[in-house]
Amino acid sequence: MKDLIKGAYEEGIKFADEGVVADYIPELAKEDKSKAGVVLINKDGDIFEAGEVEKTFSIQSIVKVVAYLVALEEIDPERISEAIGVKPTALPFNSVLDVELGGGKPRNPYVNAGAMAVTGLLYEKFGDDTLDLVLNKVRDLADRDSIEVSESIYESERDTAFNNRAIFYMMVARGVFNEDMPVDKVANMYFRNCSILVNAKDLARISSVIANDGLDVVSGKRKFDEKYGRTLRTVMAMCGMYDNSGEFALKVGLPAKSGVGGGIISASPEGIGIGTYCPGLDEAGNSLVGQKMLEIITDELDLYIY
Ligand code: GLU
Repeated sequence: MKDLIKGAYEEGIKFADEGVVADYIPELAKEDKSKAGVVLINKDGDIFEAGEVEKTFSIQSIVKVVAYLVALEEIDPERISEAIGVKPTALPFNSVLDVELGGGKPRNPYVNAGAMAVTGLLYEKFGDDTLDLVLNKVRDLADRDSIEVSESIYESERDTAFNNRAIFYMMVARGVFNEDMPVDKVANMYFRNCSILVNAKDLARISSVIANDGLDVVSGKRKFDEKYGRTLRTVMAMCGMYDNSGEFALKVGLPAKSGVGGGIISASPEGIGIGTYCPGLDEAGNSLVGQKMLEIITDELDLYIY
């Protein structure tokens, strides 16, 4: 296993130049796309790693899985399905048109509209206490209390988020949320969640807990009710890799979620969790080197679920 992870890293990093760092959030343009890391945790809790596994980067869209988990735990399922679909989409993760075509209802919880809607649902129940709910859940799943938010990435995203705010206002315009929803404030909570700093090890820990239906096989602690594991993984498989979820399913064949910060979490129902990092992205917003490494690992371990 050690050799496999090292080999996947060495092969994957060869593609580092081909990826493009996200720059629509100005602060993300500073990321170094020659850095990559991969961590695999097997079902016995053994950890294998290669590359820059301690280097932190912003979690971005991967936090959508954690926020969705908090919603599943806290919000009435009927309210969730009234506000958010579970449909894959062929449009980009930040598409205003997709929200409009859906009558204001986000296609799924793993596009921007869906994650902002999740934050809105939490705000309806928790008000200002929503602020740290997701951060604390990330800390718990990754088993690292020192995880923090990057203030510079948060501010950069907050100050340039006109498209995301348009999406949120459209959800109000179409009645998914009522008019007293403080859109800017709740959108800022979502941007803050996207700016949480994690490393590849953290992502592997989160992946491993999702792969094991809520059991943290490293610490032996239960992190969430086992009934949510299948839901999280299913929506990851359908919608986790943006509008390239189908292509990723063909190539890698595992439930996964990526973020424009360069991370990917990947959870095999056989109990294996894999976290990868490399900030160079493909055209859909998925880490290019991360996908290459996953392809090699899942192929070798025969983890393809379909
Ligand atoms: N914070 C990013 C945004 O809202 C998340 C995008 C992503 O990682 O897909 O645009």
